[in-house]
Amino acid sequence: MNAILHDMAVPFYKPVSNECSLFEAASRKGLPLLLKGPTGCGKTRFVEHMAARMGRKLYTVACHDDLSAADLIGRYLLKGGATEWVDGPLTRAVREGAICYLDEVVEARKDVTVVLHPLTDNRRTLMIDRTGEELVAPPGFMLVASYNPGYQNILKRLKPSTRQRFLSIGFTFPDPVTETAVVARESGLSEAKVAPLVRLAGHVRALSGMDLEEGVSTRLLVYAASLMAGGMSIEAALEAAVIEPLTDEPDVAQALRDLIATVY
Ligand code: ADP
Repeated sequence: MNAILHDMAVPFYKPVSNECSLFEAASRKGLPLLLKGPTGCGKTRFVEHMAARMGRKLYTVACHDDLSAADLIGRYLLKGGATEWVDGPLTRAVREGAICYLDEVVEARKDVTVVLHPLTDNRRTLMIDRTGEELVAPPGFMLVASYNPGYQNILKRLKPSTRQRFLSIGFTFPDPVTETAVVARESGLSEAKVAPLVRLAGHVRALSGMDLEEGVSTRLLVYAASLMAGGMSIEAALEAAVIEPLTDEPDVAQALRDLIATVY
């Protein structure tokens, strides 16, 4: 299972609102937390930052459409002719009282929901059918999940019965001043040179939902700024980090180039 166990250095995160105190309060009370927002707006970085800042172990699972409950809980593996039980990342997090972050939880298979329900109400239990164990999560255990409500696929919406088990924080792209500071810090490009990039992002995001499925993410702005900081021309950097990642349509790409020309 490709879960990542993070080390304890505190990754940079610039708060946008009261999300840090909310996370701490949820963690103290053992309440599950759902982070809603577009891709690349800082949700994962926020969780990594909070876990490290609170000195807590973090298991991150990038969910995908093949991810099943067994991937999270664990399975028997054949080792030297004998079968041996191996905990999945969710089980490890429960046993250790760690934080488990399920990134893009709606992508996972439906049987994952069945596992999450008893963990996210006052039972706080994880049933391991295969071994017959029933683990009660210790106070330190916290479940955090993220999802992107912007995707048009109605089948990929989180069901009310699931989402009403989580405290929720709505993430959007940071305000221009915060985003400029973030992109400059992450890329090493000066704030003066980042400012037009962030202005451009504002224009591009205004187009999302029309010709573009999603606006440009903070992550892509960091990529563009990093290329520029490395000496690449603005045009080449924006082509590779903004235009090509956002669209496959030649007309839309041209419209984006025209938009760039009005900013630069
Ligand atoms: P998400 O999980 O929402 O898809 P990430 O957390 O991976 O997005 O964010 C993408 C990148 O954006 C991060 O690697 C980081 O460089 C940057 N970023 C976005 N918001 C912030 C923020 N508030 N503070 C620090 N970095 C941020």
